[in-house]
Amino acid sequence: MTELTQQTPRIDFRSDTVTLPTSAMRQAMAAAAVGDDVYGEDPTVNALEALAADKLGFEAALFASSGTQTNLLALLAHCERGDEYIVGQQAHTYKYEGGGAAILGSIQPQPLEFRDDGTLSLSAIEAAIKPDDFHFAKTRLIALENTVSGKVLPLHYLATMREFVDNRGLTMHLDGARVFNASVALGVNITEVVQYFDSVSVCLSKGLCAPVGSVLCGSAGLIQRARRWRKVLGGGMRQAGFIAAAGIVALNENVERLADDHNNAKALFDGLRSLEAFNLTNESVRTNMVFLNCGAAVANELAAHLLKHDILISPADHVRLVLHKDITANDVDTMIAACREFF
Ligand SMILES: *Cc1c(COP(=O)(O)O)cnc(C)c1O
Repeated sequence: MTELTQQTPRIDFRSDTVTLPTSAMRQAMAAAAVGDDVYGEDPTVNALEALAADKLGFEAALFASSGTQTNLLALLAHCERGDEYIVGQQAHTYKYEGGGAAILGSIQPQPLEFRDDGTLSLSAIEAAIKPDDFHFAKTRLIALENTVSGKVLPLHYLATMREFVDNRGLTMHLDGARVFNASVALGVNITEVVQYFDSVSVCLSKGLCAPVGSVLCGSAGLIQRARRWRKVLGGGMRQAGFIAAAGIVALNENVERLADDHNNAKALFDGLRSLEAFNLTNESVRTNMVFLNCGAAVANELAAHLLKHDILISPADHVRLVLHKDITANDVDTMIAACREFF
């Protein structure tokens, strides 16, 4: 089989979403058995959904086009018009998904500040839960994110949160776009991390390298409601087995390799820490992210300098460098040398 490759040999630190599919994925996609998934007849989509449910320890799963969609499907499946979900101020499900839950579900977000470790404080949540009174929206759901800016939520925190949620009759959703990074960093099975949640959204298209797609896991009833909403949103995809095939490879073959990304993040951190202008913080380095806290002005100049070395970053106040399959240990050395040259 001829391997198609990207023409520019760039070292792209902007995101793990830029990963190209592996040759195993391309082969699986070419050979996939397909059918009409809206009729429930695509064997490869069905196999991916069964695999995801099994691996994460849930009754059922649903394949969708993106993590934004699986998060939205979860919110729509948990909440009704006039309900409220409690979420981090900087959480993807609140800040980076276009306000979909409010626009399309009439679901009100109640954002709270994340603490430095990416957790929401129980007392802040307690204070935000609305009494049953017609002046207020009905608090229904708590949405967490793991990993959150590369940080791993502690398992004991998740256990405590589950108890809290049960005592107050709420439900709990995880935006687990990178939850496999969390399980790999903790060295535990993925079920250890997701067991506390009523639903979990997982991106196949980030460090797991699939070209497209996310899965939502939950109870059979929740997934049935989400499947209905997916059709309403125009997300029924017919012969989607061609892309689901890559998702199966992602879950079966690309989880353990996340440890390489974590090691590369550590090496990058170690190589850059002596550059004081970067003001590095190390919480996110347990997984695949390094943050340069150098301010936007320096970041803009740095981005222009790195481009000459075919290195891409997204300049910002806090520059997020994301490690992934298509950045090798050699590329990390190239990056460190280019940053040293800059100063
Ligand atoms: C990427 C991401 C998502 C989903 O993004 P899509 O691009 O829609 O797949 C959700 N949450 C977090 C934390 C993410 O990083």
